[in-house]
Amino acid sequence: MTEKLDIKTIRNDFPILSRTVYDRPLIYLDNAATTQKPRCVVEAIEHVYYHQNANIHRGVHYLSQRATVAHETARATVRDFIHATSSNEIVFTRGTTEAINLLATSYGETFCNEGDEIIISTMEHHANIVPWQMLRDRKGIKLKIIPLTDLGELDMTAFEALLSEKTKLVSVAHVSNVLGTINPVKEIIEKAHARNIPVLIDGAQAVSHMPVDVQQLDADFYVFSGHKMYGPNGIGVLYGKEKWLDILPPYHGGGEMIAHVTFEKTTFADLPFKFEAGTPDYVGSVALAAAMNYLSSFGMENIAAYENDLLLDATQKMMKIDGMHIYGTSPRKSSVISFLVNDIHPFDMGTLLDRLGIAVRTGHHCAMPLMSALDIDGTLRASFAFYNTHEEIDALIAGIERVIKMF
Ligand code: PMP
Repeated sequence: MTEKLDIKTIRNDFPILSRTVYDRPLIYLDNAATTQKPRCVVEAIEHVYYHQNANIHRGVHYLSQRATVAHETARATVRDFIHATSSNEIVFTRGTTEAINLLATSYGETFCNEGDEIIISTMEHHANIVPWQMLRDRKGIKLKIIPLTDLGELDMTAFEALLSEKTKLVSVAHVSNVLGTINPVKEIIEKAHARNIPVLIDGAQAVSHMPVDVQQLDADFYVFSGHKMYGPNGIGVLYGKEKWLDILPPYHGGGEMIAHVTFEKTTFADLPFKFEAGTPDYVGSVALAAAMNYLSSFGMENIAAYENDLLLDATQKMMKIDGMHIYGTSPRKSSVISFLVNDIHPFDMGTLLDRLGIAVRTGHHCAMPLMSALDIDGTLRASFAFYNTHEEIDALIAGIERVIKMF
């Protein structure tokens, strides 16, 4: 599998990867926070601004029509990338966070009443916790939390026990941004659907690492961000089954999302525009589609296989380091490794690694409840993309060993 990807050529597509920091080659291992951008994505942005910039949808003039076609073609690219049934199911948002807030308001206000329950899990990112807490405080609902096993997997027995007549939604991450665990989302969806409960999957850490097929998963909602999948910042996607999006009320009001407006009454536009108030990010959409086409040219299976090689290599080498503790040891993991060494503060180690040109993330990773469950304040986190190399892993190991010696 691995030899199918020519990593050297791939790295050349990412100009930033050949820069130095502190006179050392940059080793960028903070991909779970955001990924670097290939030339084709930056060029797509440049192309829109230089050759076809105009506000979309309502323009009769040449540029507006060109820009509209590009934006709607991008939507079709997203549809195909996650294998949605229809472009009507693809709503552009600012990112994962906005998509979840949209649902917490639109779905939450419509279907959740006092005493109802929403199930999330211990490993959720704040983006999949706080909007539901805000809904809880508005509507008097309850949040039920799936606990974790020692390996950092969802406790599926506990999950099943949480499902009840009162459950109105299950909302869980496809992949944990801290533990790297790939959750059994298909099974979760099947179990919830057996009780007619819809499921929202936070795919922020999954879409750039593995093939995602929303029809095969049978997800009701699936959300993700462009910037974590080599696309631009500020755009993301809410996938929703048409049967749901059809009956949900709009989130934001304004231009673009209307059919007809009088001072007395407004009727709303068809899907997906009902959920896209205001001028859309028609530059970001085109650049996101460029990122998806770029990924598709390698095949997501090949990317997943190569990243799994990196994960196994890094995990094996890190386990040999004295005092190493890795958080998240599920056999089904994506390329994220959270760790602590002895009692070295993650911030200290992160700062020293940075001086060696190695960019890792330190802290709570927007998952403070998970940190509490693990009884720690934070971790270091190395997260790999398909442009990372085994040599970079060796440099990380050498870096960690060097920092340990300093303490
Ligand atoms: N969910 C998960 C699992 C994430 O990793 C992140 C980003 N770290 C988010 C949600 C939020 O994404 P964004 O900030 O792009 O909206």
